Amino acid sequence: MALRIRTRIRVKVRSASPSTGAPALPSLEPGTILEALRAVTGESVSGNDRWYELAGSRFVWGGGCEEISDGNDETDPDADRPDRSHMGDDVPPQFETVAGVAHKVQGSRPRGLEGLIVHFDAFRIKAAGNGAEDSDRRSIQMIGAGKSNGFHYLEISRTGKIFLPDGFDWSKWGSHAGKSLCPVTGRTGVSQFYVGAEMNNPGMLFPTADANVLVPWYNSVRNSNGVTIVDGQGRATRQSATDEWYKPAEARQVKTATGNIKPGWYIPYSNDQFEGLTNLCLYLARKFASFSLDKVLGHDEVAPQRKNDPGGALADPDRLMTMADFRAFLKEKL
Ligand SMILES: [Zn+2]
Repeated sequence: MALRIRTRIRVKVRSASPSTGAPALPSLEPGTILEALRAVTGESVSGNDRWYELAGSRFVWGGGCEEISDGNDETDPDADRPDRSHMGDDVPPQFETVAGVAHKVQGSRPRGLEGLIVHFDAFRIKAAGNGAEDSDRRSIQMIGAGKSNGFHYLEISRTGKIFLPDGFDWSKWGSHAGKSLCPVTGRTGVSQFYVGAEMNNPGMLFPTADANVLVPWYNSVRNSNGVTIVDGQGRATRQSATDEWYKPAEARQVKTATGNIKPGWYIPYSNDQFEGLTNLCLYLARKFASFSLDKVLGHDEVAPQRKNDPGGALADPDRLMTMADFRAFLKEKL
């Protein structure tokens, strides 16, 4: 017998198999009512392996849906005032451990996990040139770079997946923010207190003499200290036509300093990536009594002289948010 289900959150529809690796069809908005053929067991996502099979060999993850009884939903006086837990941003984070890649940790956090620092990793997001995104693989590469450099952080891919180093423990700390000062507590060395969330993103971009080409630092001609060489108009030179570059239409130009945001060209975080960050912050705020959304800070807020991340990369292609905006957004959702 068919089941009626209703999406509690925005859910992806998968083709052919109940798995996050299966091809994605267009997402369903929260509150969509569907007929499912049956409940099936599929890939476990956040500990939940229940999926629903829809007609046409399509599948949705059970964690994003609820079964509803026939006939009652339309007459339910509360149907247009859903409970907060049924609203859109309650998705459990999609964690994925990178097996065999453990980071260096320094010890236990003095008072548990208290907050989170938003970074960008200033690394490649594409396979090559101006081609397709390859952010999961790039994020896994950056987890590996943390191991070789002695740093400790998690990575959020542009697909929304959150990659953790092997043996990750929220209560242990390692370096990610460097010399830093927390504007909330006045404490230095914030890595001890706050987990580092590296968002896969090329970092601040440079214009070039070609108005159609923006380049990241790693594909710019640099001096012997590794600093990008720019002309009098702030333009860099592209190093390789086959390495990563962007079109201005992909990027966001911030012309005026606002809050933590420094002027410049940025690639906005993707919708899925921003959703991943949002869900992670809400998850941590619910999981740990020690965690405060007031201590979700930008690297550019704790090291403003040295750093420009996340700057204008936050939030997503449609919305520019300062870190203060982001904290207010999170508190609204908690
Ligand atoms: Zn950073």
